[in-house]
Amino acid sequence: MLGLGIESTAHTFSCAIIEKKRNKGKILSDIRKIYRPANGEGIHPREASRHHIENCSSVLSESLTEAKITIKDLDIISYAAGPGLGPCLRVGAVVARSLASFYKIPIYPVNHAIGHIELGKLLTGASNPLVLLVSGGHTMLLAFLDKQWRVFGETLDITLGQLLDQFGRSLGFASPCGKNIEELASTSSNYVTLPYSVKGNDVSFSGLLSATKSVAKKNKIDACYSLQETAFAMISESVERALSFTRKKELMIVGGVAANKRLSEMLQDVCKRHGCKFFVVPLKYAGDCGSQICWTGILESKVKPGTLLKDTFVTQSWRLDSVVVNY
Ligand code: AMP
Ligand code: MG
Repeated sequence: MLGLGIESTAHTFSCAIIEKKRNKGKILSDIRKIYRPANGEGIHPREASRHHIENCSSVLSESLTEAKITIKDLDIISYAAGPGLGPCLRVGAVVARSLASFYKIPIYPVNHAIGHIELGKLLTGASNPLVLLVSGGHTMLLAFLDKQWRVFGETLDITLGQLLDQFGRSLGFASPCGKNIEELASTSSNYVTLPYSVKGNDVSFSGLLSATKSVAKKNKIDACYSLQETAFAMISESVERALSFTRKKELMIVGGVAANKRLSEMLQDVCKRHGCKFFVVPLKYAGDCGSQICWTGILESKVKPGTLLKDTFVTQSWRLDSVVVNY
């Protein structure tokens, strides 16, 4: 089976093609174009959607060329239907619907967050993990039970990715800035005390963001270091409690922030204490990409027919814990 997956929830427009043989998936191509706002600015939804419109046809044709197939070879088309920015989501949905209706190919709307998790499982081999999803749009701890992902902790305000990006923008970097902060942080070891806020098993980052901005006025590098240490320690505490509670023997980290080495280091220590295996999604597939959507659509196609075109949708706020997973 050959699937095409289209991702366009926020900054990234991506098309990927995966071949499924038995239960194994092989990524034949994964092409991306990423919208970058001006330095110091965040994603402007209309500008990002314009970027996606301008790049969608070249990304699609490159993905087909690299996979050495034509559209007619595809068995299914999947697109990220949410959560995400409305104008951006609509671009991916329009491309998917146009191809599906013209070439009569079954179409699957996919939840973007579940895409992060399913591709993580495919690529790491984790089978029944506690999942830490940390990205621009999510900060969630999840475990799968009775056909649904259940939340064992999440952010009460901004996500870990937003914390890093908003702080990075205040330093003048262009979003996404997690990598810039990681680089600066690696040159300091001077911890400045910052607000640490874990409530129950949820985290709150907005006070930490304001306090770090004040520290940065004196020393940017120490601010980056202290921000990472504090935010990642909060996440590690929640992970540790969730591991004790769920008794899971695997932890898998997915989402763009999974690229951060210091976060992995801290979580590895947690896993050692709990006799738990640690899996990190490979760097190339940590951020948003078409492969996440493609693989999830392929899994769904095992248990249900494609969605009727008139029933396809996009939805800006679509929580992953509301999705029933039957495959
Ligand atoms: P996603 O929404 O999954 O594409 O993830 C994007 C988020 O990942 C942004 O907030 C980035 O700042 C963040 N990110 C990317 N690389 C790193 C890194 N090396 N360290 C921390 N955060 C990162
Ligand atoms: Mg994402």
